[in-house]
Amino acid sequence: MPAVIHVDLTAVHPVIDGFWHRTRLTAIPNPGQPLAMLCGLQGVAAFESVANRAAHGVPHQCPNCERIYRQERGMAPSPIRRSRS
Ligand SMILES: [Zn+2]
Repeated sequence: MPAVIHVDLTAVHPVIDGFWHRTRLTAIPNPGQPLAMLCGLQGVAAFESVANRAAHGVPHQCPNCERIYRQERGMAPSPIRRSRS
C-alpha cells in the first residue's frame, strides 16, 4: 500500500555551494537527475532532510534566480541592498 508523501514543488529550492536557487519542476526529480536553475547553473538532484539545510551555514538566496523569477511574474525588482563601508 502506498504511503504518499506530498511535496510542494514551488517550495523546492535546490542549494548549490551555499546558495539556494529556483528551478522549474513538473515532478519530483530522481536522485542524480540533472537540474537547471533559473540562473543557468546546473546541478544534480540530491535529497536531505530540511534539518540539515543549514549544516554548512545558512544558504543565501541566488540573486540571479530571484531577478528572473520576479521578472517572469511581473513583480517589482527586489530592493537593492547596498553595503555600507
Ligand atoms: Zn540561481
